[in-house]
Amino acid sequence: MTRPSAADLDPERKEAVLAAADRRRAEAVGEAVTFVANLNNNVTTACNTGCLFCNFKDAARRFETDHDGSHDGFTKTPAESRATVRAAVERGVYEVCSVSGLHPAFALNDEHHEVLRGLDSPASEANYTPPERYDTDPGTYVEQMRAMSVDGVHLHSMTPEEAYHARRGTDWSYEAVYRELADAGLNSAPGTAAEILVDEVREVICPGKIGTDGWIEAMEGAMAAGLDATATIMYGHVDNEMHRAMHLKRVRDLQDRTGGITEFVPLSFVHERTPLYRHGVVDGGATDAEDELMIAVSRLFLDNVENIQTSWVKYGDAKALKTLSCGANDFMGTILSEEITKRAGGSFGEFRSFDDYVDLIASVGRIPVERSTDYRRRRRIDPDDGGPFGPTLGPNADGTPLLSKRERAERDGEAATADD
Ligand code: SF4
Repeated sequence: MTRPSAADLDPERKEAVLAAADRRRAEAVGEAVTFVANLNNNVTTACNTGCLFCNFKDAARRFETDHDGSHDGFTKTPAESRATVRAAVERGVYEVCSVSGLHPAFALNDEHHEVLRGLDSPASEANYTPPERYDTDPGTYVEQMRAMSVDGVHLHSMTPEEAYHARRGTDWSYEAVYRELADAGLNSAPGTAAEILVDEVREVICPGKIGTDGWIEAMEGAMAAGLDATATIMYGHVDNEMHRAMHLKRVRDLQDRTGGITEFVPLSFVHERTPLYRHGVVDGGATDAEDELMIAVSRLFLDNVENIQTSWVKYGDAKALKTLSCGANDFMGTILSEEITKRAGGSFGEFRSFDDYVDLIASVGRIPVERSTDYRRRRRIDPDDGGPFGPTLGPNADGTPLLSKRERAERDGEAATADD
């Protein structure tokens, strides 16, 4: 597989593509830049899947009670998840996003535990080890959904890969699994774990994951169960332009069939501290030009997906702002807690306040708009109102900033020290 090189790009043609995408964005969604008040609550870092682009996981063996030695991973019980979400909801957060490692003790529900325990070799056949073997029992997926579904918060969780884990060893359909999760409080599914939807790439970077067809089947199951979903691409590793185009075509076809994808999220590979980089399979991530083009081509090619998201976590503020003029219109969320990118070597902080968002978006002449997860509720914010600004769309959101003045000062002070 050949990676594109910055030297291969014709700068004039690149600028023409970016300008066309910016025009398309203006026609499709106008000048608003949306963002959401959200919390990341990742339940566990225990995972045996071994994706080579990931440094979020910790080998699940280390979490077993009889294992000697320490690790800096974590597993939260349903009660701990609930406490984390409740505290955020009380501050005004109205979306909780939860994506976790595939803990071998996770099962959909008690019936699933029984099925998995009954296998001849649960560990090798279905990556299952019973919860009593671990220091902390993550509970079932259903229990975690119930726990995080606090006071009308929007629960965005259960990627296609997690849904596969929640039905492994059974012949249950994805639709049935997602229906049970929806009954327990799940509101929408993140279309992450997509990476590149081309099996020759997946076999290199994530051979332990479901294939392209499995990912698409799971997404269709989520939407058949009545859930909205997002879709992603994680690019800039061993993939080339052909793989990215094939991926976009699969997402566009899926959207033509289902209509349930609310946003598309290009995720630039963060290479530091990943096995792909440590083992010399890649020597870096995408170039700035590739990042800009990925956003622009997504806007132009996915003419059936309204919202294209850019990520300050992956790109940093300056490049993320630039991508708002290359086709992006959504600026993700406040992220009260974020583990995944930090552990992979990202260094762009863990939280954006509403004031940060208003300043950043106004600085490029666009209109800050607070949105609900499903984009159906929106509130335009006028920077001239002066702030401080806070969320208003959630059950406990009354416009109060998510962090107090003192907390923000502490955060800014810590950020300055870390940068030094
Ligand atoms: S990407 Fe997900 S499934 Fe793969 S190793 Fe990391 S946590 Fe596990």
